[in-house]
Amino acid sequence: MSAQQVDLAIIGSGSGNSIPDERFDAMSIAIFEEGVYGGTCLNVGCIPTKMFVYAADVADTVRSAARYGVEASVESVDWPAIVDRVFGRIDPISAGGKEYRVERCDNVTVYSSHVRFDGRDDESARYRLVTDDGDLVLARKVVVAAGSRSEIPEVIADSGVHHYTNSDVMRLPALPKRMAILGSGYIAAEFAHVFSALGVDVTVVARSGRLLRRLDDDVSERFTAVARRQWDVRLDSTLAGAIDLGDDGVRLSFTDGRHVDADALLVATGRTPNGDRLGLDTIGVELLADGRVPVDAHGRTPAPEVWALGDVSSPFQLKHVANHEQRVVQENLLLGWHADELASFDHRYVPAAVFTHPQIATVGLTEAQARETGRDIAVKVQEYGDVAYGWAMEDTTGFCKLIADRRSGELLGAHLMGPQASTVIQPVIQAMSFGLRVPDMARGQYWIHPAMPEVLENALLGLDLE
Ligand SMILES: Cc1cc2nc3c(=O)[nH]c(=O)nc-3n(C[C@H](O)[C@H](O)[C@H](O)COP(=O)(O)OP(=O)(O)OC[C@H]3O[C@@H](n4cnc5c(N)ncnc54)[C@H](O)[C@@H]3O)c2cc1C
Repeated sequence: MSAQQVDLAIIGSGSGNSIPDERFDAMSIAIFEEGVYGGTCLNVGCIPTKMFVYAADVADTVRSAARYGVEASVESVDWPAIVDRVFGRIDPISAGGKEYRVERCDNVTVYSSHVRFDGRDDESARYRLVTDDGDLVLARKVVVAAGSRSEIPEVIADSGVHHYTNSDVMRLPALPKRMAILGSGYIAAEFAHVFSALGVDVTVVARSGRLLRRLDDDVSERFTAVARRQWDVRLDSTLAGAIDLGDDGVRLSFTDGRHVDADALLVATGRTPNGDRLGLDTIGVELLADGRVPVDAHGRTPAPEVWALGDVSSPFQLKHVANHEQRVVQENLLLGWHADELASFDHRYVPAAVFTHPQIATVGLTEAQARETGRDIAVKVQEYGDVAYGWAMEDTTGFCKLIADRRSGELLGAHLMGPQASTVIQPVIQAMSFGLRVPDMARGQYWIHPAMPEVLENALLGLDLE
């Protein structure tokens, strides 16, 4: 087996692909990608899902037109056209990204294959990386940016029933009449919105008693109630088995004797980091209990000159976090493993949004977490329906919940459910990140009247501070 020697090897072409810029031109680099170039977010995650969500939002808006005195209806949904719009945009970006690395970066070699560590080479002391295609690469430094994959519950895997995940459900040849979605997290909630708005009868099957249960209790409770009005939501449902019904789809049966039949089954029960498929034990790296690759605040794994970032190692499986970690590791690669002042991950105020119906956005502590800290806290819940833009939209379910330290006026958390939540929350993220206190934020700036962020302004003013 002939070996290529490189200065830097990068496993994964998601956020990892952004590492080599002109500052790395003098290094020889290998990028390994076993799947579609560009990673999860671009190909099967954030971007396509939100493009589908936009189409779903349009359909929902048209259906609600009568509420505003406008006559309109959704006549039909052209699923192949929706799929073409999304992937007609995305597939060329993925192909272009790969072409750029292969054709135009002289110092980069792309290996389109699964790769794993195989210890260290005695002679050169470099890491041995072996691909399924039989290539051997000897690398001085390695960045593990291998992402995560869908978890498939054993009952489903063992049953052999045909099921979809986020990787293939967006390319279904036709919309099914009925879809069962296993899972209660954000991916399940987003796909439930998409398929339901496009006319599919959606059943969401959750093991827990609430959807989005990791979010603030008020958000999770209120969202579950709204979800039950939109979809058939089966809570507290433990799967007992699954069988293929041939042309009639799939039957899921539960331990309490109930069952759900569907033409298509989508599994969205969580994502597991890909560190277990990398042979990390051969270089002395043991995974954490939750499967993540261990890293310090600078992205260093326990193996010298092996770095990790993104879903494979991060406590946050989010693209904006993976990108942030990529910038930190990129900086540190240039500074050197032993540099005195390495850049650090900033995980203090990590926001997240769920692009379901209605939208949800969150940053900082939940009320329960804030209470656990023992701090004296103030909590204010403001309804979207209390502000003029909420009236304009006839909104009846949206709300904004702010949590602050009563004494210092420091914002501790914000949780929003309602139209534009992912945008409306941004000033809170900024305030928390730059240490802006509640009174300064509320009265130190104008709030455009009558825009939706007035819900934030009112919530800030309503916080009962000392
Ligand atoms: C349906 C869905 C919707 C999402 N929506 C959002 C959202 O709205 N906002 C948000 O912030 N986040 C969202 N995410 C999460 C986001 O996609 C991830 O956090 C992000 O893509 C992680 O980036 P990464 O670079 O760590 O990993 P990835 O982008 O997954 O890249 C890792 C790459 O490594 C490759 N790989 C793995 N192992 C090997 C190996 N051994 N050899 C060779 N190649 C390998 C994989 O094929 C993959 O392409 C979503 C995820 C999903 C699934």
